[in-house]
Amino acid sequence: HVVVGVLSVQGSFREHLDHLNVLFTDLNSAPENSQLHFAARTVRQPKDLDGLSGLILVGGESTTMSLLLQHSGLFEPLARLIQSGKIGVWGTCAGLILIAYQVTNTKVDLGRRKFRALGGLDVSIERNSFGRQVDSFTQELSFQASGVNSFECVFIRAPVVSSILGRERPVGTESSVVADLFQTNNHPVEVLSEVEKNGKTLIVAVRQGHILGTSFHPELVPDYRFHKWFVDEFVLRRSIDA
Ligand code: GLN
Repeated sequence: HVVVGVLSVQGSFREHLDHLNVLFTDLNSAPENSQLHFAARTVRQPKDLDGLSGLILVGGESTTMSLLLQHSGLFEPLARLIQSGKIGVWGTCAGLILIAYQVTNTKVDLGRRKFRALGGLDVSIERNSFGRQVDSFTQELSFQASGVNSFECVFIRAPVVSSILGRERPVGTESSVVADLFQTNNHPVEVLSEVEKNGKTLIVAVRQGHILGTSFHPELVPDYRFHKWFVDEFVLRRSIDA
């Protein structure tokens, strides 16, 4: 069984589950997959992490998600699983914010609670980096080494990868947080796609070994190619290697 989990505490998890279910109906009926069975699973509690081959962290509101994860006891096991390298992980939009090692332009201290990042990707993510006038836009993009070209990307108050971190770990400040759990990822961070905005080149898709991070919402368009690529490249390859 190839089970792909979708973190379902907040945000666009239904749309991701719908995309996976359409894709898996197709894959499950293909003769070349007769030995495999694909299934999508909602992830809300620590026990939902058992036996996953892949995991998607969806778009929504990263602060809310971080607080809900801490409250439900899912935060630590989730962070450890993401960083372990054992399963394929994809964080998109708010999900990308959560799986970054550093998050800037964020409120860290929330009174009695704190915003915590899960970590995993050795990048610094800037939240809401497209400014107010251009909170949302759509752009066709292609992705390095993925075979996914001319994909309609929906950006909604999207974050960007503002820098790729070196060996030295940054420190947190009042407006930036550094993930407090850390396990080395030995793969380099590869840039898969960038957009030009206001004269700047902004990184909107990266991969680091088993982890994929994207700024946009692939679950909001009736196009399954990005989900298919994630399953082929990050989920299947890993479960076959293992
Ligand atoms: N602005 C949101 C955040 O900071 C992310 C937006 C999204 O997921 N569409 O969490």
